[in-house]
Amino acid sequence: MEKTLVVLKPDAIQRGIAGEILTRFEKVGLKIVGAKMLAPSYDHLYHHYENIGKMVSRRGQKAFDVTLAMMNAGPVIALVLEGVEAVALVRKMVGATEPKSALPGTIRGDYSHMSFGHADANDVGIPNLVHASGDTTEAALEIAHWFSESEIYTYETAHEKFTQTKKK
Ligand code: ADP
Ligand code: MG
Repeated sequence: MEKTLVVLKPDAIQRGIAGEILTRFEKVGLKIVGAKMLAPSYDHLYHHYENIGKMVSRRGQKAFDVTLAMMNAGPVIALVLEGVEAVALVRKMVGATEPKSALPGTIRGDYSHMSFGHADANDVGIPNLVHASGDTTEAALEIAHWFSESEIYTYETAHEKFTQTKKK
């Protein structure tokens, strides 16, 4: 079954909506197979956003710097979620990077508001609550970066009765 990395960013933790966000993922049937709170180091975030995420080439040095500062502003909760095409499902639920563009019904669209213009003018990162792996390659690299194998769990959920159609 496909796995994806979700990180509840410092703004989600400090606003006290980590539980509500996690509930959305649980309700759709995603399975929590890894979860922990941590304050990632600059080096950890650098690897995540640049070595894996190629953010400097995609978004520019300034956006990269303000994002690392924002992610360093407090603890985060890292999650590994598992389910049918979990990477695409979680991206759909999270919504567009810019909260201004994120549709109602998505996590970013429902719980945050900020524009690229405002962030750029004020030299701040976009506080959009959630990181979610962009594709399956990114997911595999990110999960290995944030979690050791012993921190990923195997168990059965009630929901799997309805999604596992073929016994292998
Ligand atoms: P996503 O998180 O939707 O995959 P990216 O990987 O492109 O988006 O960017 C990583 C994170 O960096 C974004 O979620 C956002 O918090 C921040 N960010 C991206 N672009 C900017 C920008 N121009 N200004 C400020 N912060 C940004
Ligand atoms: Mg990304």
